Amino acid sequence: MRVDSPVSTLDLNANAARRGLAGRMVIASLLCLVLLAACQPEEEHSAELFVFGTIVEVKLWGATREQANQAFAEIQQMFQGMHRDWHAWEPGRLVDINQAFTNGQPAKADPDIVEMIRKSQSIEQRTEGRFNPAIGALVRLWGFHTSEYPIVGPPPKQAEIDAILLHNPSSRDIHIEGLQLSTDNPLVQLDFGGIAKGYAVDLAIRHLQKMGISNAIVNAGGDLRAVGRHGDRPWRVAVRKPGAGILGAVEIRDDESLFTSGNYERFRQDEQERYPHILDPRSGWPVEDVASVTVIAAEGILADAAATALVVAGLDNWPAVAGTLGLTQVLVVDESGTVYLTPEMEQRVEFSGDIEQVVVETPTDL
Ligand code: ADP
Ligand code: MG
Repeated sequence: MRVDSPVSTLDLNANAARRGLAGRMVIASLLCLVLLAACQPEEEHSAELFVFGTIVEVKLWGATREQANQAFAEIQQMFQGMHRDWHAWEPGRLVDINQAFTNGQPAKADPDIVEMIRKSQSIEQRTEGRFNPAIGALVRLWGFHTSEYPIVGPPPKQAEIDAILLHNPSSRDIHIEGLQLSTDNPLVQLDFGGIAKGYAVDLAIRHLQKMGISNAIVNAGGDLRAVGRHGDRPWRVAVRKPGAGILGAVEIRDDESLFTSGNYERFRQDEQERYPHILDPRSGWPVEDVASVTVIAAEGILADAAATALVVAGLDNWPAVAGTLGLTQVLVVDESGTVYLTPEMEQRVEFSGDIEQVVVETPTDL
């Protein structure tokens, strides 16, 4: 609504004869303000959505209520599609693809699955097989195709593990032609558990940006991507601590992802030991000297895959593998709670308590 000739308060007092008109104009101005407020951006909108068995909190800053409602509905719909298409063991597109691989037949994917395979192939190569989403058969053998944790019982027999390792399943065994996938390796079984959340968060942020929303955070239980700011301050997020609680806080710079992979939440257990759900694809056994790894990178998909790969790399090798992936912001917590972190990460984290820290350089010339 426009007010063509604004009336100042001085004018209003000047002439009683004009009071009627002025009064109407003040009411009109007030009405206009109310209407403007309705279409002005409100400050923060948030929603809790659900995907991959996790609550995802989406927060927007500076969007209108209408934009926010539309964004939340559309992202919820996207997440439902991802859950259906990318699930490793519930019936859906990925299960069909894996079945086709077992039968030695080609399979049709969609652009998102093709993109995840392409990204995985490159990350698998750069991490020398530490990140490998083609080990679905191993993950299943260990019983990790479940949402019910902990799993109770002994580990699989070595002969069963060897029977899978013999075939060396690798995402690089998958040939891609357009949306058509094929492989000669019947032991290739895709499991996007180490990468799906990262890619989901990337796609949600991309969707928000396309809608013209430039300040947002998509946070799946501490694994997140954020863009822009929260009003006059940056987005501020927590770094998860192995077990429970938080290690500290990080302020997000414009467009960044922060992901933590841990060996403490999902595991198999027998009388002797715990067997966590991140496997070393080369040995077929879980890896144990690291409790958690947190990575900050631009893309969620890289941060997520890298956090998993660096758990596998363990205390000795994570700096070299981080260097190969071009990562400079990494934090590793060992079984005793000691924190190892890169100099750039040390600059970023505001620790919540007194925590023993060791700063480790990552090689940059690899
Ligand atoms: P979380 O976010 O639960 O800490 P991750 O992102 O590390 O988990 O992903 C772990 C999941 O990835 C496992 O449950 C399994 O589905 C799959 N996975 C396990 N080991 C590997 C691996 N070495 N490379 C790729 N995916 C893996
Ligand atoms: Mg991961």
